[in-house]
Amino acid sequence: MTNILSSNIGYPRIGEQREWKRALESFWDGKITEEQLLQKTTEIRLNNLRKQKDLGIDLIPVGDFTLYDHVLDTAVTFGVVPKRFRYEGGPVDLETYFGIARGTDDAVASEMTKWFNTNYHYIVPELNDVQPKLVENRALLYYKEAKETLGIDGKPVILGPITFLKLSKGYEQRDFPKLVDTFLPLYVEQLKQLHEAGAKIVQIDEPIFVTDVGEDALEAAKKVYRTFAEEVPGLAILFQTYFEKIHHYEQIIQLPVTGFGLDFVHGDSLELLREYGFPQGKTLAAGIVDGRNVWRADLGGKLTILETIKQFVKDGDIIVQPSSSLLHVPVTKTLEEKIDPVILGGLSFADEKLREVVILTKGLKEGRGAIKAEIAEVDEALAELKTKYRSDEATRSAVKSLTEDDATRDTPSDERLKIQKERFQLPLLPTTTIGSLPQTQEVRRTRSKWRRGEITDQEYEQFIKEQIKKWIAIQEELDIDVLVHGEFERTDMVEYFGEKLNGFQVTEYGWVQSYGSRCVKPPLIFGDVSWAGPMTVKEITYAQSLTDRPVKGMLTGPVTILNWSFAHDETPRYDIMKQIALALRKEIEALEEAGIKIIQVDEPALREGLPLDPEKWDEYLNEAAYAFRLATATVKKDTQIHTHMCYSEFGDIFDAIDALDADVISIETSRSHGELVSAFEENTYKKEIGLGVYDIHSPRIPSLEEIKTNIDRALRTIPASQFWVNPDCGLKTRKEEETIGALKVMVAAAKKAREELTSKTV
Ligand code: GLN
Ligand code: ZN
Repeated sequence: MTNILSSNIGYPRIGEQREWKRALESFWDGKITEEQLLQKTTEIRLNNLRKQKDLGIDLIPVGDFTLYDHVLDTAVTFGVVPKRFRYEGGPVDLETYFGIARGTDDAVASEMTKWFNTNYHYIVPELNDVQPKLVENRALLYYKEAKETLGIDGKPVILGPITFLKLSKGYEQRDFPKLVDTFLPLYVEQLKQLHEAGAKIVQIDEPIFVTDVGEDALEAAKKVYRTFAEEVPGLAILFQTYFEKIHHYEQIIQLPVTGFGLDFVHGDSLELLREYGFPQGKTLAAGIVDGRNVWRADLGGKLTILETIKQFVKDGDIIVQPSSSLLHVPVTKTLEEKIDPVILGGLSFADEKLREVVILTKGLKEGRGAIKAEIAEVDEALAELKTKYRSDEATRSAVKSLTEDDATRDTPSDERLKIQKERFQLPLLPTTTIGSLPQTQEVRRTRSKWRRGEITDQEYEQFIKEQIKKWIAIQEELDIDVLVHGEFERTDMVEYFGEKLNGFQVTEYGWVQSYGSRCVKPPLIFGDVSWAGPMTVKEITYAQSLTDRPVKGMLTGPVTILNWSFAHDETPRYDIMKQIALALRKEIEALEEAGIKIIQVDEPALREGLPLDPEKWDEYLNEAAYAFRLATATVKKDTQIHTHMCYSEFGDIFDAIDALDADVISIETSRSHGELVSAFEENTYKKEIGLGVYDIHSPRIPSLEEIKTNIDRALRTIPASQFWVNPDCGLKTRKEEETIGALKVMVAAAKKAREELTSKTV
């Protein structure tokens, strides 16, 4: 007999109003004690559990909570602490724990990197010469806590060994099987303890299996899960995946576990079921409600999918759940008071998603009739949203009729660059910056005053103008060749445009964790996107009026705006990307009309948007490059288009970068110069390029020699006539003195390099 249960994979940690963040930061600032921190976070954790129980979730996750990051929690569970923190065994204390995450006076923090294709960042475990031991069974502590204080018999969540090891660093690939053998008994011990404490079912997250893992991972999985089954019989194990379909599905479903968690929202898992079936007697945990987006689920459609899924399950249970942990979406929409009710009616944050899970579970158990009213209610809300905001015929038909021609500049790049050289008369190795200049306390404070209505629009605009004026003068004084206005009017490079474009809505409390206590508030794309009027023209033309040197127009590109927003899923993503591109094109035309000669369109999120499934890469990269060109193609041949990206692992997207057809690209490389320069060795890049010549992430002012060395190294592969000198990213997080100090050195280094080059040629 098939049981049908509702479940959750993970719940947001941050609290409805980011109480978690505030508690952590107060503790780091020394404003509250460790005891107070633990008390506050326990309160948040228990409250999260209580909410899930009240919503009617059958399998409530425990152990998904963390004081920083769940991968770090897994590492410290096993005493994996880098040597430099002088850890001496036993449960890892809070100071060491936060030290690994954030660094201490004597030891640098562990590296942080993106969690699969999300904007969540985890702390990369370092396995170099550690002797792992089960030093503190965190999952067990949380399991007992939930049981004892709330009477919740939770479902412990642990990060599986294969994924944990594959995400770690500090070992040679060939030692992977040995490491699996080292960790296996520790995991077994952890599971035994959970089982003894009464846990009946454990969720073991193995999302690495949605990527193209090697044979070694598959072999390891066979061994690990066979051992679990033998050593801890009676404990149900759910092998949980998310974010894409499982890559080696046929082999994975042979594993001797109780059941498998599959993502039926991202990646076509249903197709896998159709093609390969589902093993008899196994539980299927169906991730059916999108854990990565904030739009309400079409309950009727989802129930149909669940009914189809059900046909593949024979003598096993069905678990209805979100497609991934809900840590990727905000907590609840009930706090939003300023959103148009029609838009609000189409939203579903974590709490609302769990309600959807419960409704769908009921529908699957009792039949469609049992949730008729709920289905009708969603249908109505979604239809209203569609009629009101997703029926902009002008935009829709513009997107439909697009051709390759619409995204192609009239003049080829070599010719353009020649004409632009004539026009701008810039020195060899021109200097510039990436866009933002220091956002001082004063800037941030004045903006909040304006947001709170304490100063008028005019006063705020005046203040921004003063900042621009001050910094145009500073940049001239520094003798930088191509100037920027400084982005003082923007808090965030996506939210700023979200506040100004049609089809976007910003939220008040729609925070999601990005890393540690840092949260971001992505704008929502609820409808068709279009240009509502100039967004950047006033500030840029003001800046340009103050100087004879060119000032760059500064925009965020279509790919980045889309990737860093919560876009509704009714219109295909790539169509929304094109809608954004067409809106940006209007802005670019307006800038050009206002006399701006150089326009930078930033795409820092281009690479991270790369799908997990390599089969989808080409399409993505083609669409992304097309959208960028669509935004920029109508400018005159002597208008120079710049773009910026902040990463260097680059080989795999080199062609796409070329396909953007930007005249000048600046990229972050100061921390990995060699690598990138060699990418250029293998590829011949004909357009102009600025490789970041110093690292803006550090407050340190670089020396002339350092910057000069970076320039010289690049000039060995890139012709001087193509090379620009710039920092490797925006300067908004730096202090004013640091920025001026560093830029002074940068300009001096560029001049020195210039002199050497000219004396060589005469
Ligand atoms: N123009 C932006 C800035 O300088 C680019 C930021 C980014 O690359 N993330 O801040
Ligand atoms: Zn950058």
